[in-house]
Amino acid sequence: MSQDFVQYLYIASILLFALSLKWMSGVSTSRRGNWSAILGIVIAILATLFAFQIQRIDLLVLAIVAGSVVGAPIGLKVSMTAVPQRTAVSHAFGSLAVALVGVSEFLQRGQSIDSVTVAVLSAEMILGFLTFIGSCIAFAKLQGLISGRPTVYRGHNIVSLSILAAAIATAAFLVLYPSMEILLFLMIGFALIFGFLLVMGIGGADMPTVIAILNSYAGLSAAALGFILDNRLLIVAGALDGSSGLILAMIMSQAMNRSFLNVLFGGVGAKKTDVEYKGGQERTAQTYAIEDVATVLSSAKSVIIVPGYGMAVAQAQHVVKELSDVLLERGCNVKFAIHPVAGRMPGHMNVLLAEANVPYDQLWEMERINSLFRETDVAVVVGANDVTNPAARTRPNSPLYGMPILDVDKAKSIVFIKRSFGPGFAGVENDLFYLPNTMMVLGDAKNVLTELIASLRSMK
Ligand code: NDP
Repeated sequence: MSQDFVQYLYIASILLFALSLKWMSGVSTSRRGNWSAILGIVIAILATLFAFQIQRIDLLVLAIVAGSVVGAPIGLKVSMTAVPQRTAVSHAFGSLAVALVGVSEFLQRGQSIDSVTVAVLSAEMILGFLTFIGSCIAFAKLQGLISGRPTVYRGHNIVSLSILAAAIATAAFLVLYPSMEILLFLMIGFALIFGFLLVMGIGGADMPTVIAILNSYAGLSAAALGFILDNRLLIVAGALDGSSGLILAMIMSQAMNRSFLNVLFGGVGAKKTDVEYKGGQERTAQTYAIEDVATVLSSAKSVIIVPGYGMAVAQAQHVVKELSDVLLERGCNVKFAIHPVAGRMPGHMNVLLAEANVPYDQLWEMERINSLFRETDVAVVVGANDVTNPAARTRPNSPLYGMPILDVDKAKSIVFIKRSFGPGFAGVENDLFYLPNTMMVLGDAKNVLTELIASLRSMK
């Protein structure tokens, strides 16, 4: 195959990757985005294989078969709630591969290596190895193999940043003395320790944001390797990966009203937050029987369903869809309110509701739906908490303060389905539980909704 043709194929891949990112940013086009990325990567792999005279095709085929045998069942079987940790595993392997290619390039080039190449390779290896270890820790935290609490101690950030500085300083020495291989392994060691300390110091619930940040590091690392290998596809694909991961992490941080630095070095979740109601009055919440809620819903003309993390835990998306169908059959207008950080990963609610075949036009983003709560008869909150908490507007000392929330409190009636009066991820008590127009229904979301649907169906 001529090199020109390979470059044309690379351009086709790049276009498909860019289109894929565009399409993946919309719910209705996201499947097309996935296919476009798959096609792009297949073209990229084939073009790269044909561009070089492969000596041991048997080893290559063996690696592809082994990877597919391990990867395909994981991709097919993993549950939707486990997607964040599955993504962490992919990043771990991807970044390890990139980092090891960097090591091999460094060792192969030997004495003939120039300073610029060493500098770029060092940056590539530091990013690659810290992403590898960081992604492994993120996986372990999300999978519950280790505690999700941030492991922080006095001076934690100073120690970890000093280790990063040591990695960079060792890289600088490596540029000066590339023949001293010991420096290479010292640098890798420092990068691994920094990645370990960094992610151990971050709480389990912040792992999705961390994974997005590590994703951008892996992309930058791949782009750096692209310069070394003189492979334009790798440069562009790495840059796309790096920038999209960074943008995603920024969107997530903004939606939580947190800064990057706070996510990475804040140690949020290490201590139990104590931001409870201190109004001085005894407050009582009203718990209701399912039949009472069914009666209210049966006469509602408009309902907004607000899903949150609890819906994912209970795997209640299919019953939520069923509730929506029953209400629609009764002539009620039903919409779903989607908060950008509801759940534990970006697009968590969109993915679950798409799996349950909720039509896209029923999903309303926060900015569009907030003005509609005022004229809505009932807001049904299914396992959401922080994303509805008015403390984000009213309590300056709250960790949620400043986070944009869904204006559930403006609805005429609120139905809250959750198992207890306990707080959500931020550990902040929710004043909504105590509003006179709030009906608390305590129980697992799937069980409560199943009974609620049965009760509604029994009503004429
Ligand atoms: P929250 O974590 O605030 O609340 C979830 C609620 O679900 C809990 O209060 C819990 O109450 C309830 N719940 C748990 N299991 C069940 C069940 N089986 N049935 C019914 N209810 C259940 O979730 P939100 O979605 O409101 O907010 C997401 C939070 O996560 C935000 O603070 C956000 O900043 C954070 N976050 C989000 C990320 C993202 O990308 N989406 C990333 C990182 C953090 P109870 O125990 O009483 O049942």
